[in-house]
Amino acid sequence: MKCDVCKSKIQTTFLNKIVGTYIRDSRGKRKVVCPECQKKFSREELLEKF
Ligand SMILES: [Zn+2]
Repeated sequence: MKCDVCKSKIQTTFLNKIVGTYIRDSRGKRKVVCPECQKKFSREELLEKF
């Protein structure tokens, strides 16, 4: 799985959860965001990037 902002690879835990977060865009599509991008950008900024 890849971050939808910076395209870097996102690790998953042994429980198959991603190290990062999911955000729904305006069309209701689920986007993946890595912890780095979560730190760098606000939710609004991330939505503009999808
Ligand atoms: Zn990222």
